[in-house]
Amino acid sequence: MSTSRNVTRAVNAVLDLAPRRGEVSLPRLVAAVSADRGRPIELATAELPAGVCGQWRQYTDHDVFLIQHGLPAWDRTLAHELGHLVLGHEGIHVLEAARENTEIASLELIGYMLNQRTGCMGPSGVDAEQEAEDFAALLIYRLGRLPCDRSSIVQVRLGEAFG
Ligand SMILES: [Zn+2]
Repeated sequence: MSTSRNVTRAVNAVLDLAPRRGEVSLPRLVAAVSADRGRPIELATAELPAGVCGQWRQYTDHDVFLIQHGLPAWDRTLAHELGHLVLGHEGIHVLEAARENTEIASLELIGYMLNQRTGCMGPSGVDAEQEAEDFAALLIYRLGRLPCDRSSIVQVRLGEAFG
């Protein structure tokens, strides 16, 4: 399946925000998107339910990308979650709704709902998960092909990225 114009445009838009100097790493791109939106995006690792690689949590004044603790290909997952955000997939509102209705939504429950969401259709009838995957693949490919003077480093140590 070829990458949709929508996804290509979103990847271009994110790369346009990349810092003009120094290395362009994925966490730096996330920070650039965050600055552009005027809404903080926090990165954190967490013990997520088995089978869940990452999670985008939307709070009223900020977003959090949670990455499964110890995940080897975390950059791919981070790019995937960023894809959901920039592509406007707001499917996790269901999560927010659940949190309002229950004192504490357990991680297991969140995992269950995320699994339910897998394969869901986006607003335009496009499979949101597929779109986020396409976005992640293209972004990481393009990051790896930036000119040398931008010294792109996709693989930053997890500890450096998440502080
Ligand atoms: Zn997803």
